[in-house]
Amino acid sequence: MLKLTFLGTSAGVPTKQRNVTALAIECLNPYSSGTNQQQSKKSRPWVLIDCGEGTQQQLLHTKLSLHQLVAICITHVHGDHCYGLPGLLASAAMSGRRAPLTLIAPKAISSLLETIALTTELYLSFTVHFMAIEDLLSQPDSEDKGQITISLDNQHQLVIDIYPLSHRVASYGFGVEQTISHRTLNTDKLTVDGIPASALWGKLQQGKDVVTGDGRKLYSADYVDDDSQCTRVVIAGDNDMPDCLSAAVADADLLVHEATYTHEVLNNIQAKNPDFDPMHSSAQLVGRFAQNIGLKNLILTHFSARYQSFDNPSSSTPNMAHIRLDAESVYQGNLWLAADFDQYMVNGAAGLAGEAKSSRVQYLGSARGR
Ligand SMILES: [Zn+2]
Ligand SMILES: [Zn+2]
Repeated sequence: MLKLTFLGTSAGVPTKQRNVTALAIECLNPYSSGTNQQQSKKSRPWVLIDCGEGTQQQLLHTKLSLHQLVAICITHVHGDHCYGLPGLLASAAMSGRRAPLTLIAPKAISSLLETIALTTELYLSFTVHFMAIEDLLSQPDSEDKGQITISLDNQHQLVIDIYPLSHRVASYGFGVEQTISHRTLNTDKLTVDGIPASALWGKLQQGKDVVTGDGRKLYSADYVDDDSQCTRVVIAGDNDMPDCLSAAVADADLLVHEATYTHEVLNNIQAKNPDFDPMHSSAQLVGRFAQNIGLKNLILTHFSARYQSFDNPSSSTPNMAHIRLDAESVYQGNLWLAADFDQYMVNGAAGLAGEAKSSRVQYLGSARGR
């Protein structure tokens, strides 16, 4: 289960309603046995994708804590995606963070942080494991090229993979895939076999073979089903060619992609100034890609500041309805337009590999003031 909280949904500059880009992804494990506060907090690690200016301020309106942040991924070097990074790291240090943090980003982000650390005497109380995307993608061909595995606990794993996109600077999309392994005890079978509930049940569930009081040997494999649940979301950076993500979304439960303008506005911008292409997608461009590839769930974000947040198709003021209709004109799947603090729960299919995947995306409302 991945819980998404949009911390910024505006393109380029913030507006009164929208901050610049950032997205939090919490990795929830429904089988985690933690009951006290500390354990349940530990079972809610999260990943931050992009960190526009003011992201740490946005976080204050949510329940997310910098102590549970395990990794930050930066899609590209444009300021609306990374200017919040130094401040967020400095605040994590000031709040006493000690745990190392993984940072997956273009190489230049490392120089940015080094310069700021040097010129502003920034000291971080924790280690930043910097992983340059250029290096990850240039590894000699191997199965896990461009893949980073983060083990959250022995039954809960996160794999982040990286896809090059098309933008004015090198930009990337991230696949975030959570796998939760879980052993289910077949209590019906135990009862039928005349084995009453006792400490033996717990041992069987832990994978241990046991001997009953009357000398019967019971094999864990006979009474335990191994399940795993896999949830995969793909988060794109700025990109004018959604097709770059064909492989990434093939097995994804959800795609989050920029839709800076409607197609009409995009065409007008390109026609007005043929020498400058902003290299962004329109809602229609992303919708067509999603429709062609059979994607069931799509969230659009990163809207130009010209679009007001209300939804009124008949208004002549550019607004969310225009973006929505532009995507709906070509896309028939589930579509949402993100707003700041919107939260979504994404549930991948549970069950055996090879079974038909039935994912579910649910809009939860606003994180603000919850
Ligand atoms: Zn941008
Ligand atoms: Zn950009």
